Amino acid sequence: MEIKEFLDKVNSELKELIKEVSLNYWNLATTGQKEWEEKLKESDLKLRKYLSDKEKFKLVEKFLKDTSLSKIEHRQLILLRNEMLPNQISEDKLKELSTKEIEIESIFVNFRGKIDGKEVSDNEIVEILRKEKDSSLRRKAWEASKEIGEVVAPKIYDLVKLRNSIARDFGYSNYYEMMFDLQELNVNEVHKMFKEFKSKTDTSFMIIKDEVDERISEKLGIPSESLMPWHYSDRFFQEAPNVYNIPFDEIFKNRNIEDLVKKTYSEVGMEVEEILKRSDLYERKGKNQHAFCIFIDREDDVRILANIRPNEKWAETMLHEMGHAVYDKYVDKSLPVILRTPSHIFTTEAVAMFFGRLSRRPEWYKKILKMDSNEVEKFESELLTSLRDQLMISARWIITFVFFERELYEREENIDSLWYDFVSQYQFLNVPEERRGKPDWAAKIHFGTNPVYYQNYLLGEMMASQMGFYLKENISDDVFNKKVGAFFINKIFKPGASLRWDELLIQSTGETLNPDYLVKEVSII
Ligand SMILES: [Zn+2]
Repeated sequence: MEIKEFLDKVNSELKELIKEVSLNYWNLATTGQKEWEEKLKESDLKLRKYLSDKEKFKLVEKFLKDTSLSKIEHRQLILLRNEMLPNQISEDKLKELSTKEIEIESIFVNFRGKIDGKEVSDNEIVEILRKEKDSSLRRKAWEASKEIGEVVAPKIYDLVKLRNSIARDFGYSNYYEMMFDLQELNVNEVHKMFKEFKSKTDTSFMIIKDEVDERISEKLGIPSESLMPWHYSDRFFQEAPNVYNIPFDEIFKNRNIEDLVKKTYSEVGMEVEEILKRSDLYERKGKNQHAFCIFIDREDDVRILANIRPNEKWAETMLHEMGHAVYDKYVDKSLPVILRTPSHIFTTEAVAMFFGRLSRRPEWYKKILKMDSNEVEKFESELLTSLRDQLMISARWIITFVFFERELYEREENIDSLWYDFVSQYQFLNVPEERRGKPDWAAKIHFGTNPVYYQNYLLGEMMASQMGFYLKENISDDVFNKKVGAFFINKIFKPGASLRWDELLIQSTGETLNPDYLVKEVSII
């Protein structure tokens, strides 16, 4: 078969397979009905079978050696190979892998930690850590949230061994390295970048964390030097605690989030009416409680699932999800189907983050919520502080996760004792001595179910800041400008996956990914 004929065929077959999976996924998420779960499993299996086809994979590898390939052909074949490679394993191994992953996932769904012998739900733990003043109850809730770690850690260690053995069959030294490679990332380069980011922001983070600790200390009546991990409102210190003086409740109580999102995007010259119409935005029984954006058919059917309530969290979430949606919407549809996706997971994350951050920018309250400048001025500095703290704290958490995960796959042995070394080194938290050596890390679901993915969140934040500074310096000081939308549409969205992420950044901002913009965004010295 000729290359052109082969690619035409694969593009049209994949389009149908992806559409089927997406629709079933959407129907399941919006109804919770069992029949869609079955249909989703079926269509998912069909897609995976397609990607595991040995003959097709051989052809892809053969075509890739052809030196006369056009750039667009080469790009399609590379992405196809990256999708197909992890599926080229024996049916037994594939089955073992998915059984083990599903087992961990279902433990997370069903497990309940205990406080004084009584089972507590995740929501109850979250509530306690957000509001409770009694330190001993906070501690109990936090410890309850870690109980699942002991249950799943042995299973994750098992899974790490299995994943590594699969990666070795493909000639990689471990699964971590394989996954980076398939995501077109280089392990050493990304880790070097994160290490540099860490050292460049250490002093600022120390000051920021002192300030945050001071606020918590005041709120809880505990000396700031004795704060322990259970005194923060997030169990992993993944988010800035709720300690800022911003009248969000007052501001959002009578607002229509959908309208605010529409207005935001229309100010930069993007039309999102159609996307909102196809979306499922409000709470309903049986519906998935989170939020996501899904590109159904790689044509124009982009949808968002959300559970909007009139508050800042949902404003931020909707601005974020709509960032993913407009990316999909404006990808050039004359490209082959395989290339009608964002350039990388982290480039679409970056766009979503760029727009999500607007709910912490004073100009958004003035322009979109039409609030009086004097009003906004009252909470302007708290708003910006909360954004900066959030970016810094989440960056530190991501680094902790990413560095630990690499050790997990490289050492392939029990490394429980490393966790709190990393927590203290990167998040600057006091460590409860009696927890050292416990598998508290495993209480984070992503180690089991979303392996080697977390780095994309920090790469996304870095790119979001890089685009932000580029726009300010070269296009418009004010984000609410049609030229800003034109930049996103023409320079970022349109090329889809026809450009690798580094090419995309160079072509759009003049340089490859440069973490210094995020450093600048979060630094206070
Ligand atoms: Zn996202």
